[in-house]
Amino acid sequence: CGGNVTAEDTKIVMGTVARLTVRADEITSQAGLRDGFAALTQVERDADGAAIADLEAAAGTGEWREISPALYETLTLAQELAHRSNGAFDVTAGALTELWERARTEKLPPSPEEVAEAHACVGYEFLELNTVEENGKKRYQARLLRTGMKIDRGALIKGLALDGIRSTWQNADIKNALADLGTSSILGMGVNEAGEPWQIGIRNPRGERAGDALAVLPLSDEVLSASGDDERFFLYEGRRYHHLIDPRTGYPADTGLASVVVTLPMSADDLPAWQGHMGLLSDMLSTAVFVLGAEEGRKLLADVPSALVILIGTDGRLIGE
Ligand code: ADP
Ligand code: MG
Ligand code: MG
Repeated sequence: CGGNVTAEDTKIVMGTVARLTVRADEITSQAGLRDGFAALTQVERDADGAAIADLEAAAGTGEWREISPALYETLTLAQELAHRSNGAFDVTAGALTELWERARTEKLPPSPEEVAEAHACVGYEFLELNTVEENGKKRYQARLLRTGMKIDRGALIKGLALDGIRSTWQNADIKNALADLGTSSILGMGVNEAGEPWQIGIRNPRGERAGDALAVLPLSDEVLSASGDDERFFLYEGRRYHHLIDPRTGYPADTGLASVVVTLPMSADDLPAWQGHMGLLSDMLSTAVFVLGAEEGRKLLADVPSALVILIGTDGRLIGE
């Protein structure tokens, strides 16, 4: 009983247009939409929560701040990816990304002095994590060693959202669904109305029209994250300044890549600590590979054999193996 329907809704969450599609019986699909959007709102609320602000406020004092087990786990994974990518992915890049975000609104690159000042407030080696046992209860702590350090919420939020919505839908026993968080972060569960994997258009970052697709990728029980220099950028004196910053230089990464797309199965055990965090992993990997460039990026991906990666060069062409 209860034939399948396809329920779909669109809302603005996390500063982006999120479109959720659930295929199930009438009641389950409506509940899936409602709970899916609630999961996204929860991730957004957690990211804007007091814990990170409190941690930042104590930066440079040497004092530990208590954080939730969930934030501790997220930051631990971020630190693992920082190590693996030699700092190309750095969750403490906040001071730099804020500087470049302001530059984008003013359409004017920052001065070398401003870059140097922000750069001094960035470095994953200055983020420390700790646990303490007290009366048989485990407490989780973090501290930022340099004054002015900031956690980059934008580095994590889409990946956390993919994982949040995936676990919400799995708990509700939803098998076939699609979550599209502004086209750069997608979860595809099961199959579409035609009984086939969800079909995802890979945008040409140098395409003429917004809908210009370079390729179509099937997605079934997989997550996808994309990082591109066409998402948020400004042009100044003929140069493109985008939002993917190389934390080692302080400037937008310039490795000949225009876009990196990473897909992963919803569950894979390439890296044991990341079980249940494939959304976060794909999000961090797409950023890291973009910053590292094709060659170094492939070395990072060698430890994640389940990942499929599409690299698009600044000439708008697919880069082959
Ligand atoms: P989104 O996740 O919003 O779709 P990206 O995956 O391309 O976009 O990530 C871009 C965001 O990641 C930036 O807006 C910024 O907040 C953050 N970021 C930029 N450079 C880095 C970096 N090297 N390490 C970690 N985070 C970064
Ligand atoms: Mg992205
Ligand atoms: Mg991202």
